[in-house]
Amino acid sequence: MKRSIILLGLLIIGGVAIDQSDSKPADNIKAQVIGHVTNTTNYLQSKVNSFVQNEKSIQSTTVKDPTGEKTKTASENQTTPSNQTPILSIMNGFSVDNTYYYHFTNKTPESVKQVFETAIDSYNDTGLVNLVAGTGTAKQNRITFSIYHKNEGYKASSIELGNGGPKLIYNTNDVNKHAINHATASINMNYSESVTVSVAMHEVGHALGLDHSDDMNSVMYPTNQNVTQLSDGDIAGLKNIY
Ligand SMILES: [Zn+2]
Repeated sequence: MKRSIILLGLLIIGGVAIDQSDSKPADNIKAQVIGHVTNTTNYLQSKVNSFVQNEKSIQSTTVKDPTGEKTKTASENQTTPSNQTPILSIMNGFSVDNTYYYHFTNKTPESVKQVFETAIDSYNDTGLVNLVAGTGTAKQNRITFSIYHKNEGYKASSIELGNGGPKLIYNTNDVNKHAINHATASINMNYSESVTVSVAMHEVGHALGLDHSDDMNSVMYPTNQNVTQLSDGDIAGLKNIY
């Protein structure tokens, strides 16, 4: 039996409040965000969140920074096209450098490396971000690429092909709200259709801070449409962040 619905997951990591006021109805997000404070930074953690296409409400948990000093406000610089791919609300208000160092975990097979490398080239071609091979340092933006195995069961009407998302680290004393992003992007090896450029494009988009789009030409459409090229809306979304 061929499953008709294919899901792309999102890993949201954040310790900031998720403001729901700018969240349009999208996919079902079950965000569970845990924050704790170190001496100078908030280190943000979370759990994997899956999207279910059939549910159109957002169910983010609103989480406040444990210091109580940080709250999020909705971004108001929405001057670009109406099909602009939204950015993840946890990115709002932060400035993030556009250079990222990326590496693959040891178990990542060559086939997965290839689809991610193709996606990386596409993102670099925009000139908006600069993804460089290497591990980087703790103070540099990073993306870690990996694989996982998640079996949805034979009765599942939908399957998750991958997940990805940003993890922002920032100094609570920084009035400029500069953040470092230690992002992840991962492919579910339980399904052969996961290892495709379209899935890699989608998960890299999440890692860089893009949210889901309801434009089927966007790589950020929540179910796989085999879109392998960034839409104008995707590029506008990236410009909004970088
Ligand atoms: Zn997604």
